[in-house]
Amino acid sequence: MTNTKSLKCPCCFSDLAVTHQGKYETLIEHVECREPDMKDGYQCPNSRCAAYEFNGVWIEDGDFWIKEPPAGMNHEEAEQQIENHSLTGRTYAVNSFSDGYERYRDEQAKSTVTLNLHWFILEFTPRFERIEGSNEWVKTGKWKRTIMRSVGDGRYVHFMTFWDIYYYELDNYKRNFIGLLEGDEEATADILKMIENEDMWGKKEKRFWWKIARYFICWVWNRGTSKKIKQYHEKNDRKLRVL
Ligand SMILES: [Zn+2]
Repeated sequence: MTNTKSLKCPCCFSDLAVTHQGKYETLIEHVECREPDMKDGYQCPNSRCAAYEFNGVWIEDGDFWIKEPPAGMNHEEAEQQIENHSLTGRTYAVNSFSDGYERYRDEQAKSTVTLNLHWFILEFTPRFERIEGSNEWVKTGKWKRTIMRSVGDGRYVHFMTFWDIYYYELDNYKRNFIGLLEGDEEATADILKMIENEDMWGKKEKRFWWKIARYFICWVWNRGTSKKIKQYHEKNDRKLRVL
């Protein structure tokens, strides 16, 4: 995580200072059930700031804690107070990864265009990318198109056009081929399934447009490669490692 700008307090924009270290648990550590490691604890040095008064702590990725809320207040109420005082409307440290990420997600949600055509819902979402060396995200000018098809009762399912399927499978083929060259067994098994036109569970793929897409990818554009992979597979009984 490279970031050239210093972390600031979202309530008063003062530069945060490292005051101590603690085992603050990040979301990733929580999800992976890992023991949190030691991290720098950042605090606001401005004695007139609400975050200072509440003894609030940030870590480098921008996440915020109130270790001990003021008397008569629980953690949520105290955090809500800080959010109300915050100039960004969020509790994350300004210039941090978490703050930049939340801001980009908000902006993306706001600029998403949705067209409800009754049987279909068309959605255009602007794509963003992170500026190298910062936690700022900018629009790339590209849009992601999503089509949802009505299945009745106000419910919708994701709908893929032939070209969605084609490019999805082409990406899979390329990625699995690289995996195969690196000796990745899972990628090898996956590319073999594509070549043999099998689905995830090893049964023959029945979906018409998926069959067509795979046929072109495996047996028209990459016929030589697919043939070689298939021959090696037959010889080595799915244990091939090197082409
Ligand atoms: Zn402050």
